[in-house]
Amino acid sequence: MIIGFELRETPEKGGGIFATKSFKVGDIVMVGVIEKMLDGNHSHASQVGKNEYVFHGGLITKVNHSCGPNCGISVNATGAHDYVAIKDISIDEEITFDYAMRNYKIDYFPVKCMCGSISCRGEVTGWQSLSNEKKKEYEGVVAPYLLELDESQ
Ligand SMILES: [Zn+2]
Repeated sequence: MIIGFELRETPEKGGGIFATKSFKVGDIVMVGVIEKMLDGNHSHASQVGKNEYVFHGGLITKVNHSCGPNCGISVNATGAHDYVAIKDISIDEEITFDYAMRNYKIDYFPVKCMCGSISCRGEVTGWQSLSNEKKKEYEGVVAPYLLELDESQ
């Protein structure tokens, strides 16, 4: 697979990941690799199970949040999160996902969202706080344990 992204600096958000080729809806944009299992949540951790947190390795950790993202999450065979295009992505577009697709609650993020999306929620919130419409929109492209957590509430 040709790598289709690179790290670039952005004016407001620090580093971000940008497409260096175009992607179609359904394409795997970035393949996730688990670097380390953790004992609990951490500012840069990804939640991969009800009470399981990991560090992902590589550039996937640099992907910024957006309230109107162009990628969703698909769990791969290793249990890591691949990023899959939910919109067509053109060259030089920033690759984004919604942190709420991965984390039930956001414990370690500054509250104000800088994503600039027209559907911006104003703050970075977790799955728990999403509207039912938004949950429906993200159906099939979020980490599956989020749905299990919803059922057990
Ligand atoms: Zn936002």
